[in-house]
Amino acid sequence: MKYEAVIGLEIHVQLNCATKMFCDCRNSPGDPPNSNICPICLGIPGTLKQFGREALEKAVLSCLALNCEIQPESAFDQKVYYYPDLPRGYQLFQFHRPLGRNGWLEITAEDGGWKRLRGREAHMEEDVARLVHESDSRRRFSLVDFNRAGAPLVEIVTEPDMRGPQDAMEFLRTLRVCLRYAGTAECSLEEGTMRVDANISVRPEGSTGLSTKVEVKNMNSIRHVGNAIAHEIARQTALVEEGKEVTLHTRLWDPDRNVTTPMRGKFAGPCVPDPSVPAITVSPEFLDELRARLPEMPAVRRRGFEERHGLTPEEAALMSSERELAEYFEAVVAGGSSPRAAVDWITGRLLPLLRDRGESLASTRVTPARLAALLELVERREISAGAGKEVLTRMLESDLDPAAIVVREGLAQVSDRETLETVADTVIANNPDAVKDYHAGKKPALGFLVGRAMKASGGKADPKKMRSLLEEKLGSSGD
Ligand code: ADP
Ligand code: ZN
Ligand code: MG
Repeated sequence: MKYEAVIGLEIHVQLNCATKMFCDCRNSPGDPPNSNICPICLGIPGTLKQFGREALEKAVLSCLALNCEIQPESAFDQKVYYYPDLPRGYQLFQFHRPLGRNGWLEITAEDGGWKRLRGREAHMEEDVARLVHESDSRRRFSLVDFNRAGAPLVEIVTEPDMRGPQDAMEFLRTLRVCLRYAGTAECSLEEGTMRVDANISVRPEGSTGLSTKVEVKNMNSIRHVGNAIAHEIARQTALVEEGKEVTLHTRLWDPDRNVTTPMRGKFAGPCVPDPSVPAITVSPEFLDELRARLPEMPAVRRRGFEERHGLTPEEAALMSSERELAEYFEAVVAGGSSPRAAVDWITGRLLPLLRDRGESLASTRVTPARLAALLELVERREISAGAGKEVLTRMLESDLDPAAIVVREGLAQVSDRETLETVADTVIANNPDAVKDYHAGKKPALGFLVGRAMKASGGKADPKKMRSLLEEKLGSSGD
């Protein structure tokens, strides 16, 4: 019998708000331990929690980016549990009445098409403190860092629509791109701004029921999520094939050994409505205002790049992978460049230069309009591609027009016949061996001579014209 995997994800995303969810402490968990704390986020009795507007805005924007239906009214519950990371004894999160329901994201399927994966809900939640386990020669102990306590989170719970590691990894990548577009979260598993629990079960292929699932935690990168799921599918399939049963429990991914191991169960208490934080209302006007703030989302952009601009699926995916990049590309094309040239110059030339200099598209002096002006010079063959690269490098350090830089640096392409002929004649005279090879039918010799000629012209000769001129002067190639 063949088995198929069924996977659903529970994803915690840290919103990039300036302050925590219920107090004015900085939302910056990486700061020195316990530097962003107050009586509210320490959970001291008698304090009054105040729900912040920024957290709501970013939570709603996140839900919209995931195509959720925003609930006009949602509310916080108390999840009761006892652990040192939560001295208050309960965590605030939306259990009974979540903010968003019925979302979905479209991912690229393995056959290259699109596949829609459903979200079940997205709710708001406060983070808890971080425990740091240490030891010295005498004992082991744990330290508590409250910087993270009360940090604003959104938890996204998907339907069990995924069928393998690829689906899950692609969903997470797509989610990350969407929330970065929305400007609400960084979504880095490595840095802890996104945490993923994967629920996995296997069932006979063709059946539709759900088998007992296992939850896997502790993955620190999207690749780890894929590896953990693959391992867990193999483990469960082997169990079932041996006639054994899968039992409901939680496992931890061990990235060093590439296995999952069982985890001790945690006490899970009741979830009761919280009486202190008022219900959260989202009016239609507020919702419209937020909707208007969202940019065109990556999937829409990507399709547009393929259909309107003729990019390949890979190029379209790349150019839409970040909002800044997509908007830059669109602006260069709007400035008159061909999409093809824009892709080549942005990815092949501009981005590597910016990376070397530690700059970004947002901070560089090479605005889309200036890059478009440069590309126009290249397309009109006023300068060679090589000279264009030279000009681009200068543009990073000056606000001069590309055309002015061309004049200042003497980089204009030389295509007047007389000048080119002088160069061609000299090169032919100075390279008799290559000329002989060429006449003997050795084709690469021509490339060598063109190279020499380009060099002799200081890179300014029009390479196409130089090539045909050399061919013309050399006559028959001997074959
Ligand atoms: P629980 O009550 O154990 O938290 P839920 O029904 O709330 O389970 O689902 C939690 C997550 O597990 C969701 O993402 C859901 O899609 C996924 N899930 C539920 N049942 C299964 C299953 N049998 N196999 C795989 N994933 C599942
Ligand atoms: Zn605080
Ligand atoms: Mg659940």
